[in-house]
Amino acid sequence: MFGFAMGLLDLDKIIIKRTILGIRCNSCGGNLVLSSQKTVSARIIRLVSFGSVHPKCYECEQCQKRYLLL
Ligand SMILES: [Zn+2]
Repeated sequence: MFGFAMGLLDLDKIIIKRTILGIRCNSCGGNLVLSSQKTVSARIIRLVSFGSVHPKCYECEQCQKRYLLL
């Protein structure tokens, strides 16, 4: 059971790395920059995962649309 959960986590990491490499805004294709502001959903995810997940908030340079990366 535990090994299965760890496998899932490893899979998640791979997906996350791929997402960060090609980081672009879905709406306008602009650059996403790391935002210093923490969103409410980022706090909830961190709380639920007991601090094991550190969500990062990104903001589009052009349209200011926000993204949450896990
Ligand atoms: Zn944008």
